[in-house]
Amino acid sequence: MVLKDDCIFCKIVNKGIPADIVKETDNFIVIKDINPVAPVHLLIISKRHYDSVLDAGGENGLDGKSGIFRLLGELAEDFKVADNGFRAVINTKEDGGQTVSHLHIHFIAGRRFGWPPG
Ligand code: AMP
Ligand code: ZN
Repeated sequence: MVLKDDCIFCKIVNKGIPADIVKETDNFIVIKDINPVAPVHLLIISKRHYDSVLDAGGENGLDGKSGIFRLLGELAEDFKVADNGFRAVINTKEDGGQTVSHLHIHFIAGRRFGWPPG
């Protein structure tokens, strides 16, 4: 399965519903979160549908070829937060607080975040 019919993020990947797209790579589309929790709040969404990060590893996944670390660095430069820093978060399943079952990484920046998370 590359895309899933009833998945909102697949529709965004497909350009079936609008989103504020800030960057695109071979494996990811980066959009602005519709409900930002920080001055910068981006979602790095995999172009293929994976229910969660648990499905995205291994041979048929994104391991080793995703370019995710390069992309994080590029976004930090693009959004001028490389000096102050940022947080990248993958909420996974119920305990992780995942609400959309399509792999995505939150990129948040522009203020100081606490630890541990609530
Ligand atoms: P999570 O709770 O980790 O699954 O994150 C889902 C995120 O997707 C939330 O931060 C929502 O605000 C965001 N979101 C849901 N629908 C859209 C949309 N249509 N466009 C942009 N962001 C969205
Ligand atoms: Zn999907």
